[in-house]
Amino acid sequence: MLVGILSFSQKSLQGKTILAIFAHPDDEITIGPVLAKYAAEGVNVYLAVASDGRYGTNTHSNIPAGDTLAAVRNKEMHCSAEKLGAHPPVMIGAHDQLNMREGKTGETLRRIRDTVIYLLKTINPDVVLTWGASGWTLHPDHQLVGDVVTDIFSSRQWPKHPKLYYAEIPTGTIPSDAPQFATVDSSYLTVRVNVSTADLAKAQEAWSCHQSQYIPSDITYMKKGVWHGDNPVSYFRPFVSSGKMQIGLFDEGK
Ligand SMILES: [Zn+2]
Repeated sequence: MLVGILSFSQKSLQGKTILAIFAHPDDEITIGPVLAKYAAEGVNVYLAVASDGRYGTNTHSNIPAGDTLAAVRNKEMHCSAEKLGAHPPVMIGAHDQLNMREGKTGETLRRIRDTVIYLLKTINPDVVLTWGASGWTLHPDHQLVGDVVTDIFSSRQWPKHPKLYYAEIPTGTIPSDAPQFATVDSSYLTVRVNVSTADLAKAQEAWSCHQSQYIPSDITYMKKGVWHGDNPVSYFRPFVSSGKMQIGLFDEGK
């Protein structure tokens, strides 16, 4: 009986599609275990990456900023997607910092916007994942990409009536020595995904693809904050309301 229930559950995800849209080549790692889990269960996982990461220099890799680093990070992103079981990533190709240094952020956001519309039309996802207002790290690239995705998502009703979820970190769950993360009160994080040790192992392999960004000790340290240590649950905030119409800001018209 139990086997029957499990096989029904697994079959029900066949043909489903997730589209995750983030800012940088390595942002996918934050929810790597979730992406690996669903890919293993037969879900089509697509990743889109807004910027090329060309300014993400590190002393350990010593790769100069610019085209060379962007090319390295493109390969790392493809490696990560493969390890997670996702399709090859869609590299939107904006310069790091969304062309802020070049004074072209407005133009770049329009390009990202057009690409998100194209992806929602062609990939036709059941689930869209991106950054919420916290952007995990308050990084402006994260916050702007999450804004663009929310803007496009909410602009119309897409054919499959997809769900939009923001990847978040619950307040109080990260170590006090990891202040680089931005958090959200857990009462808002009503969608939780349990992942297995096998999912974590795949995500760790994907993380290791990003050699220009991390050395193994970085990963060991950051896992505490990013994947919640030995209690592997990922937290999401749903975009939608309850769907119930309300009259008045205080629901006073009922
Ligand atoms: Zn990032």
